[in-house]
Amino acid sequence: MLPDLLKHLRRSGLIYLYYVVCKRKLWLFYNGIQFAKYSDHVIQGKALTLTSLANKRKEIRLNEQIVLDRIDLKTKTIIEIKKSNISLEAHKLQVLYYLYYLDQLGLTGFTGVISYPRQFKRVKVGPITDDDKIKIEQIQEEIDEIVRQPMPPRAVRIKVCKGCSHFEFCWA
Ligand code: SF4
Repeated sequence: MLPDLLKHLRRSGLIYLYYVVCKRKLWLFYNGIQFAKYSDHVIQGKALTLTSLANKRKEIRLNEQIVLDRIDLKTKTIIEIKKSNISLEAHKLQVLYYLYYLDQLGLTGFTGVISYPRQFKRVKVGPITDDDKIKIEQIQEEIDEIVRQPMPPRAVRIKVCKGCSHFEFCWA
């Protein structure tokens, strides 16, 4: 039972973030076409996470797929650190998926916090409800449909394209 469950859950939280931000990016990421190491925004985001976590707990990896920036077991809180709140709805879905993931493993009662240190802002997510679980499962099905397509969805110019690691791939 547990191996089946882990197989079902075995997907990165980034998949959910990209599902909201850009379905083309989702397809590219899922199918292993990544240029993330060349993106200044990604590098800045990682640096910010490292700075915010300095002298605190390290990030937590679950099943080599889920990376929680920080977890506080006393208050049952997971914390996701982000550079900018431009993609707030995507960040919320990513954290909701982490709560779903923990819940499916029997780790119930967690809440999430998205921290934007540069904006001195924190956004609470959860605790997860039954409706949230249905929503995550419906989105999982949609994601499966998208990534199964032989070609990525057409590029559509959006705000985040400028900082996207796939920018030249999509627009050069
Ligand atoms: S450059 Fe824009 S269209 Fe292309 S993957 Fe990135 S966000 Fe999507």
